[in-house]
Amino acid sequence: MSTRPIPDFERLGNCRHLDTINRKNLDFEREKLCLVCCKHSDVYACLVCGKYFHGKSRSLQSHAFIHSVKSRHYVYVNMKTAKFYCLIDGCQVNHSSLDDIRQALNPRFSRDRVLQLDRNVQWLKALNGSHYLPGMVGLRNMEADFVNVTIQSLMRVTPLRNFFLFPENYVHTKSEVVQRFGELTRKIWHAPNFKGQVSPFEFSKAVRREFGKSDPVEFTSWLLKTLHNGLQNPNRRSNIICDCFKGEVQFAGNTDGRSRKGFLMLGLDLPALPVSMDSNIIPEVPLFDILKDCPRVTKLPRYLILHMRRFTKNSLSSVQEKNPTLVNFPLKNLELKDYIIPSRLCVPSKYELIANIVHDGKPSSYTVFVQQKSEQLWYQIRDLHVVRTPSQTVASSEAYMLIYEWQ
Ligand SMILES: [Zn+2]
Repeated sequence: MSTRPIPDFERLGNCRHLDTINRKNLDFEREKLCLVCCKHSDVYACLVCGKYFHGKSRSLQSHAFIHSVKSRHYVYVNMKTAKFYCLIDGCQVNHSSLDDIRQALNPRFSRDRVLQLDRNVQWLKALNGSHYLPGMVGLRNMEADFVNVTIQSLMRVTPLRNFFLFPENYVHTKSEVVQRFGELTRKIWHAPNFKGQVSPFEFSKAVRREFGKSDPVEFTSWLLKTLHNGLQNPNRRSNIICDCFKGEVQFAGNTDGRSRKGFLMLGLDLPALPVSMDSNIIPEVPLFDILKDCPRVTKLPRYLILHMRRFTKNSLSSVQEKNPTLVNFPLKNLELKDYIIPSRLCVPSKYELIANIVHDGKPSSYTVFVQQKSEQLWYQIRDLHVVRTPSQTVASSEAYMLIYEWQ
């Protein structure tokens, strides 16, 4: 007859149940709350069935313990501390075979691994048999297309991504949006990914607390400013947001004749639609033509975000009207030297496209084209669907927001 050892969860033990762990059932991105009492604190994931339970210091009355006895599921991880426990043996478990679970819960990157990210062309197989490319994974739709397309676009901005892959870069900030954006970045680029997809649940929740609209351009603008404010450091004048995106334009001013203003994104006006428009003919305009109406640029950023002002509110009906004019833009060799003040020409002025957000016709419905660095191939991503796309499709799409990178 075997007797149950006295539980001592500070003690490390050899768990006999590690082979009952079922990685297919693990999803660490759902809302972390107990299935029974809905408490958000002290949550443990059952590593056999993947369900979450309140652990209440792992006491015998806790919902986690009751589940372990009823279902004979013995191995758990504390979602906050990432410590593993065998509830029936009453001990903590630390075994190298659990490293992949610890990584999935809280992905960490070495400098070497980050350097390899853009060279990797290897598709991996998720546990359900689906294939995925780390960094190019689908995102579950949290009822917000505009969040997913924005995230997918920003994930192509290499210095921004690399910054957020190392939590020590932003551990000092209390901004929930900064922390959740960092966590999401690490999950999107992490391999192996058990499911081959990511649910941006925590990030969407943090965003929804503060941002109430549903447009990817407004959201990108809000997100960059929020990240910028969250990363403010009195000891440093700049931060990763400014380093990547901040440019400067010159307006004709009233007082000293000239005034300069920084920007993170440039909005471009589309030509007005003809009064009687044949609905079969969509007007087209070269990007260079609409750039001419922009204020003169005095400093070009490393990453240039351009957005087309497609939507206007009809003052009578307050309905949003869309200008469907197609903008002809180049994927490579966007040369902007004619648009900047000549004396500032010491910086590169040629750009290459890395992301393109497109409004797909239905209200609040968006899709995104992103470039994969290692092979310079294009993918279209709509939530969980990631599909290779010819570059001609990207070039002929109805661009809403473009991200260009110094070439
Ligand atoms: Zn279970």
